[in-house]
Amino acid sequence: MNYNIIGSSSKGNCIIVEDVLMLDVGVSYSKIKKYLSKVKLIFVSHIHKDHLLPSTIKHISFNFPNIKYVCGSEEVVKKLVECNVNKKNIYILKNGIKYDLGLIKVRLIDLYHDVENYGLKWELNGKKGIYIVDTERIDHIVAQDYDLYLIENNYQEKVLQEHINKAIEENDENKLFYLQRVPHTHLSNEQANSFLIENMEKNSVYEYIHKSNYNYKEE
Ligand SMILES: [Zn+2]
Ligand SMILES: [Zn+2]
Repeated sequence: MNYNIIGSSSKGNCIIVEDVLMLDVGVSYSKIKKYLSKVKLIFVSHIHKDHLLPSTIKHISFNFPNIKYVCGSEEVVKKLVECNVNKKNIYILKNGIKYDLGLIKVRLIDLYHDVENYGLKWELNGKKGIYIVDTERIDHIVAQDYDLYLIENNYQEKVLQEHINKAIEENDENKLFYLQRVPHTHLSNEQANSFLIENMEKNSVYEYIHKSNYNYKEE
């Protein structure tokens, strides 16, 4: 399954799968403009700006008014409508139901973040993929033998703990507050790996996404 990561961090997320499926729109319009004529469907996970950038959506809705959108929450619908997306092009998916949209079959996944957030499973050109980002945990998800896993790898548990210890030492309450929220809103490298070990088969491909440079140390 071919995929193109345009952006994947708290600075902006957007991945295009098989040219036709766009996962989140948190990057500038100029970065994705040249791909949009082929895009048929856009999935928006949640309302945070690094996943739903209003200025970009406004440009898309103006220049490519026929692109369809899928999401799981009314708050995403509201934002899209505010960006002039035609309501008839937005599908709110119900959790746990597989939708056959012709070219693509999709299903939502519950995620645990500080706003309503969903992941996505899809089938496209006979291949299966899964997209998981901005979540406290994934131990409720099963995705055996998928072709592509796009999975959050936000922080290393050890590195985060070192930063927490330092913030306690330095009595830096603001930093401590921020750091202590990370495990409740994002997925660690360790969580991602145990999910991949459980679910991947020999032909599966994975890609780590949404990495924090601060809470991660390259070996
Ligand atoms: Zn994010
Ligand atoms: Zn978020």
